[in-house]
Amino acid sequence: MTNLYCDTKAQTFQDLALRVYTSNLLGQNDALVLHGGGNTSLKSVVDGEEILYVKGSGWDLVSIQSQGFAPVRLKTLHEMAKLENLSDSDMVAQQKAAMIDKTAPNPSVEAILHAIIPFKFVDHTHADAIVTISNSLHGKEHIAALFPDFLIVDYVMPGFLLAQKIYEMSRDADWQRCGGIILHHHGIFTFDNDARKSYDKMIDAVTKAEAFLETNASFEIQSIPQEAFDLEMLERTVSHYKGFEVVTLLNNSPLALHYASLPIEKLYRGVLTPEHIIRTKRHPLVIQKGEEIEVQMQEYMGEYEAYFLAFAQHETMLNPAPNYAVIEGFGVVSFGKDEKEAKIIDDIITHTMRAVLQADRLGGYQSISLSQSFAMEYWELEQAKLKKP
Ligand SMILES: [Zn+2]
Repeated sequence: MTNLYCDTKAQTFQDLALRVYTSNLLGQNDALVLHGGGNTSLKSVVDGEEILYVKGSGWDLVSIQSQGFAPVRLKTLHEMAKLENLSDSDMVAQQKAAMIDKTAPNPSVEAILHAIIPFKFVDHTHADAIVTISNSLHGKEHIAALFPDFLIVDYVMPGFLLAQKIYEMSRDADWQRCGGIILHHHGIFTFDNDARKSYDKMIDAVTKAEAFLETNASFEIQSIPQEAFDLEMLERTVSHYKGFEVVTLLNNSPLALHYASLPIEKLYRGVLTPEHIIRTKRHPLVIQKGEEIEVQMQEYMGEYEAYFLAFAQHETMLNPAPNYAVIEGFGVVSFGKDEKEAKIIDDIITHTMRAVLQADRLGGYQSISLSQSFAMEYWELEQAKLKKP
């Protein structure tokens, strides 16, 4: 992975401007973060008080500017980490109340976690290479061997629960000896009091993971010819069940055609990093040769409803129609309310296909469980992201 840091450019920046600079660098690499994924922060002193500037929700790292960072009193966030329980709505309200500029965006759902990491610059990404290894059969062993000086954390739902777990795990830890944090099935954190070093640590860790995959998980793409398929009929059917005209985006790359030749069980194994679920749902509509669109749609929506009913307590079911389809001999089709959304889904799936095929070379791809997927998909703080203009 290329390190994009430019000293000549960076030396003109300080604190928040430097934070903006390295956040943009992370955002430029879509093997690190995609569409709103990941977050970064800076600890600084304003009028004698310690403040955490953390990525505001609704901003992408690639284009974030200084006003995209929410300034929150660090002391309040530290106190929140020590609580036994904290509901999502209380977390949001307390964070908002602790902001020194009320016009700034809402802080990231990971603000408390950023606060408890005792370094000035904290970088968090969902790096493909890291989650690919983590999402494989022996992911825990591989990650432990590759990153012996990292704090490694089993999957926990993001937000308060994750911050609380890391607070407890790290209370007696020596942060100075900690190279970073890896969150299984989710992503990676690096940190330092120097912006460049924190960024370098991220690039170095991901480069190490990429080299591991290169040696142990390379795969070949079979050349599969594309066949005819009634895309218009699929578009009409999906639009009908979604209740609006969807925009479709076809991916018929060799990778997509190869992926579409996998058996259905292999396409049903879940998301690369949890927040993708609000874009893609847990799995696609799969149409194999000789199968009818309408029949497969009914089956998909029936399964979705069963999944919802298995885990729902008080939630309202989202529209059960799929967000993308994998069609044998044709490719992968994303469905968006507009072109932008279809492209976001296509980007996520493109990264997922590669990761799944690599993780299979490591013994088998495995993501978070159905119940963990449900908790993420129906988390109000995730759904709120989709409602942003
Ligand atoms: Zn994350």
